[in-house]
Amino acid sequence: MSAENKPLECLIIGSGPAGYTAAIYAARADLKPVVYTGLQMGGQLTTTTEVDNFPGYPKGITGPEMMEDLKNQAERFGSDIRFGIIDNVDFSKKPFKVVTDDRKEIFAETVIIATGATAKWLGLESEKRYNGNGVSACATCDGFFFRGQDVAVVGGGDTACEEASYLAKMCKKVYLIVRRDELRASKAMQHRVLNAPNIEILWNSSTKEIVGDGKVVTGAMIGNNKTGGLRQIDIQGFFVAIGHQPNTEIFKGQVELDEQGYIKTIPGSTRTNIEGVFAAGDVQDHVYRQAVTAAGTGCMAAIEAERWLAIRE
Ligand code: NDP
Repeated sequence: MSAENKPLECLIIGSGPAGYTAAIYAARADLKPVVYTGLQMGGQLTTTTEVDNFPGYPKGITGPEMMEDLKNQAERFGSDIRFGIIDNVDFSKKPFKVVTDDRKEIFAETVIIATGATAKWLGLESEKRYNGNGVSACATCDGFFFRGQDVAVVGGGDTACEEASYLAKMCKKVYLIVRRDELRASKAMQHRVLNAPNIEILWNSSTKEIVGDGKVVTGAMIGNNKTGGLRQIDIQGFFVAIGHQPNTEIFKGQVELDEQGYIKTIPGSTRTNIEGVFAAGDVQDHVYRQAVTAAGTGCMAAIEAERWLAIRE
């Protein structure tokens, strides 16, 4: 191995709150972390507008600004942040090997995976146009902006039901747009939406178009999958909750994943089934999915990487 290819002590893959927080802690522990940012530098939060629920910002902050702050904080302690994609990993032997999209081989003693998850979207052009201006994939993040207004949630799983129930507490009316005549969600979640007085379920329904005034959402065109009928609902917020896809394609066969593709971690830790490989943030969490929980697990991963290196030496 050439001097240039000397293994890094800590490689972090991903640049959302988990990746940058891991970098802050790893850099302060003198692990000289290198962060590969991925294509969407800053992660999912760079596509949101206001973030009002991250502790420490009493007046709120925009997602892109918050991610810039986290990046600057990681760099302040010497993290080496590189814009690039990891295409391939080999965790079968130590040091671990990863290959970047420009075919560069990197070796590392520890790897923190913080590649996040991607919200699934319906794929409508109008959904893209109004993203951040009425269209959202996170009720916990954006629901507050629609207090006292009418909104819709698409999906029939636990997330959709949870988001509809959450929104029902602050919005006037919530439409739940379900493509079949039944919900996929657990019975307890079903019970919550079926018993909320201000949630109306639109069964057998598909969103044909999100309607807006050019700036913000004002409604949605809903088609009935059985009758073919069309109706417009007047809403100000449109929440897509049809599932997330963890960004774990390159880790298949390298580290243990659950049946939905999320990285399995040992409960109460960020350790994976491969010693020296840790996972933090949404890539290993389909339940909380918050910036602050991602940051928390990023911190855990860096501390665990540091301890693992110390024990091993
Ligand atoms: P799921 O995959 O469970 O559900 C996705 C829902 O979206 C389904 O109802 C599906 O319909 C619908 N859907 C998918 N694609 C489309 C589309 N193109 N148009 C319209 N509707 C669509 O995802 P969730 O995010 O709800 O849940 C993921 C996992 O996380 C699950 O295991 C869930 O139990 C878990 N979870 C647990 C929670 C808890 O315990 N508190 C909270 C949130 C999630 P169809 O049913 O027809 O396929």
